[in-house]
Amino acid sequence: MRTEADWDYIVVGAGSAGCIIAARLSEDPAVRVLLIEAGGNDRTPIIAMPGALPFAYQNKRIQWGYQSGPEPHLDGKTIDEKAGRALGGTSSINAMIFNRGNPMDYDGWAADGLIDWDYAHCLPYFKKMETFAGGADAWRGGNGPLRISRAEAKHKFYDAFLHAVEQAGHPITPDHNGYQQEGGHVAQSFIHGGVRWSAARAYVRPAAGRSNLAVLTRKLVTKIVIENSAAVGVEVAGSGVIRCAREVILSAGVANSPKLLMLSGVGPAGELRRHGIAVLADVPEVGRNLQNHPGVDVQFSSAHEDSLTAELGISGRARLGVEWALRRRGLGTTNFFETGAFLRTRDDVTFPNVQFEFLPLTRQVRGHKLVPVPGFQFWMDLSRPMSRGTVSLRSADPTAAPSIVFNHLAERQDVIDLIAAIRLARTLVAQPAWAPYLRTELAPGVDATSDRDLEAFLRRATGTSYHGCGTCRMGTDGGAVVDAEAKVNSVERLRVVDASIIPKVVTANLNAPIMMMAEKIADRIAGRSPLEPSTAQYYHA
Ligand SMILES: Cc1cc2nc3c(=O)[nH]c(=O)nc-3n(C[C@H](O)[C@H](O)[C@H](O)COP(=O)(O)OP(=O)(O)OC[C@H]3O[C@@H](n4cnc5c(N)ncnc54)[C@H](O)[C@@H]3O)c2cc1C
Repeated sequence: MRTEADWDYIVVGAGSAGCIIAARLSEDPAVRVLLIEAGGNDRTPIIAMPGALPFAYQNKRIQWGYQSGPEPHLDGKTIDEKAGRALGGTSSINAMIFNRGNPMDYDGWAADGLIDWDYAHCLPYFKKMETFAGGADAWRGGNGPLRISRAEAKHKFYDAFLHAVEQAGHPITPDHNGYQQEGGHVAQSFIHGGVRWSAARAYVRPAAGRSNLAVLTRKLVTKIVIENSAAVGVEVAGSGVIRCAREVILSAGVANSPKLLMLSGVGPAGELRRHGIAVLADVPEVGRNLQNHPGVDVQFSSAHEDSLTAELGISGRARLGVEWALRRRGLGTTNFFETGAFLRTRDDVTFPNVQFEFLPLTRQVRGHKLVPVPGFQFWMDLSRPMSRGTVSLRSADPTAAPSIVFNHLAERQDVIDLIAAIRLARTLVAQPAWAPYLRTELAPGVDATSDRDLEAFLRRATGTSYHGCGTCRMGTDGGAVVDAEAKVNSVERLRVVDASIIPKVVTANLNAPIMMMAEKIADRIAGRSPLEPSTAQYYHA
């Protein structure tokens, strides 16, 4: 029987990245791995059933309940900033949309000095991690733990969406995670057999029988223990110090990884001293460089009988639950995001600078309540916004929520691009494909026509895509928090592997990119040879 004090690696946080690091390192039976998670297990239908998605991300028992803001450029508002707190982390509560990003995102990282993070070096890891329902090819994997499906997109609004994209002069791409990202697409998702395919389900469950891997749940790590400038273990609330022989890998997510570094004395010296924390390493960029995809819902009404809302009344929802529970069929098996698009609002960008996630239903606040309204909506967000924010400590109490301020719309270009995106959405909806269904525009509303009207709407309505990243930036320059192998520059035997190391946000929802990074770094930690770079080509506008 092994004691908890006797590990080679300690991984903090069983989220999208942490589950992969722990599972891949423990493939070597000679290596002892401890995975520590603040939340509990993930065995609940709220997590497993894709159609229960709103219940998953709103359930306070399986998420951290953080808020961002006050946002100085969004009329001072605060926004619920969800993050999973259960096995699987945020991959257990997210919307399950599978997008890798644009190859040019990774080539951009390489141009900034991270030479083996170009697309050619990342693609083999994207392939390694997945089994794609559409089959393996030069871009797609056929043998990985993550099961990725392609949506059926049966509802007539999905058809209208894709036809309208085409009628407006944009391409339709057969695989936006393959050769060509740009254009309209049928969505792909982390769903298989009607069930959410989280990092926990894909990686930790199959490894659960290994005697060299232990998973501790409901344990809050309060500090990294650092001696002589090297991490030697972690402090856990109620359990004291747990030590490890090789490395601590911090995978606590975009807010909690910088928070834990700062609580451990690694961060901006002034901020640490303000909270009475002894400074072990003055690293000014810990918690800085916070990025996200700011976006808005553009909503339209339709006849009740046309919208999917008609199928989601009380009896429809009851049927959905029963069909899913008994046969893993029906609307319970979908996340409802079954089509989307990556488009450009201007010709001077080489990558699609806006993403559209289409829903064949919509909701609006009426009399303080969010109610379903017959219609459809686009969630539109900026792929690579310019604005940057900060995660900082509110106090030295490890149970206190960190302060998260995105500074959305601080940069003028972000406002200009989102205004253009709203106009682009209107162009799509003006196409003949929508004529049989469209009644009116609900938001921003037909009266909002000038740039000034639309900017006022944006400052009121802009929200989060929940794609926070960048707070422990990876880079090769002196300011970077971690190096190209995710090692913390100022502390030995300590790495950060999660959303926080993304240097520049990519043109995608972040779950797949983070998982790819975890797969790639796991090879480096284990001392395995990196996978051979790919020679697969990709589309340039
Ligand atoms: C509502 C929502 C919808 C989203 N939809 C999508 C989508 O459809 N597609 C997509 O690609 N991306 C989506 N995302 C984003 C994506 O899921 C996240 O970016 C990604 O899961 C983050 O992975 P991570 O490894 O960085 O952190 P996480 O997965 O959040 O993992 C961090 C883990 O560390 C644990 N932890 C934190 N602090 C401690 C501590 N002190 N001690 C012990 N454990 C700790 C947490 O409980 C958590 O389990 C969504 C996010 C949200 C919130």
